[in-house]
Amino acid sequence: MSDSCIFCKILARQIPSSIIAENDYVFVLKDIAPKAPIHYLIIPKKHISDIASLTQDDKLIAASILYMAQHLSKTVDGAQSFKLINNNGTSVGQSVFHIHFHFLAGSRLTAFSV
Ligand code: AMP
Ligand code: ZN
Repeated sequence: MSDSCIFCKILARQIPSSIIAENDYVFVLKDIAPKAPIHYLIIPKKHISDIASLTQDDKLIAASILYMAQHLSKTVDGAQSFKLINNNGTSVGQSVFHIHFHFLAGSRLTAFSV
């Protein structure tokens, strides 16, 4: 856990949020500023700042992100088709430095920016 990280604080229930699913390795939040009718964030429970920082020890975490996306697509109404987007680095729009994947569904979503 990082003391200054908003997603670590949410996971520790130090600040309120809407966690809608979790497993051993990842949890899922509703994005506070949705860019699509369905906009969730899939977030590892371990504090890892970005994809560039992943190590070989994080293979299960990395796989769990995809399996959580599959779970959401099967269980959330209207989310059979979805986009999964990660911003890695400030210059492409990463603003929270704890890995998260944007799970977007519910419209054509032709824009790439989230
Ligand atoms: P990124 O710009 O790719 O780092 O994405 C960060 C995302 O976190 C943005 O879409 C924000 O709207 C979202 N976000 C920031 N704070 C919260 C929060 N407290 N609860 C839910 N989503 C948040
Ligand atoms: Zn964190």
